[in-house]
Amino acid sequence: MAAEYDDDNIFAKVLRGEIPAETVYEDDQALAFNDINPQANVHVLVVPKGRYVSNDDFGLNASDAEIAGFWRAVGLVARRLGLVESGYRILANHGANAHQEVPHFHVHIFGGEPLGPMVVPPGRGR
Ligand code: 5GP
Repeated sequence: MAAEYDDDNIFAKVLRGEIPAETVYEDDQALAFNDINPQANVHVLVVPKGRYVSNDDFGLNASDAEIAGFWRAVGLVARRLGLVESGYRILANHGANAHQEVPHFHVHIFGGEPLGPMVVPPGRGR
């Protein structure tokens, strides 16, 4: 069973319009907006509109339509941001070891510059 969803998490508030965000894309299944603390020239967060804590929760409990719509949106956002030619990275943190801060499932899209190694090796910046 997945963790319980907290309706007070920051992305729930963004989805309800209670907190402003720089929206770059929206459709029935997903909202994409700029990260408040960008880690690359382009750093966009894509969140499903449904109440899912993490990738684990989303994969277990979202409908096929939600999953398909969400992942299609991730690709569309990257395309609309002009990242397909130059390349980009997508990343989703789940739980403590990955330092997931916000308990609403989200995918980071990074791009706009060379991104370096996929994971920082142990002892180098963790
Ligand atoms: P996580 O560590 O959960 O994968 O990533 C959470 C991300 O949300 C971080 O990159 C952080 O900068 C971003 N973030 C946290 N609070 C806000 C906010 O209020 N607005 C926006 N746009 N991004 C946020």
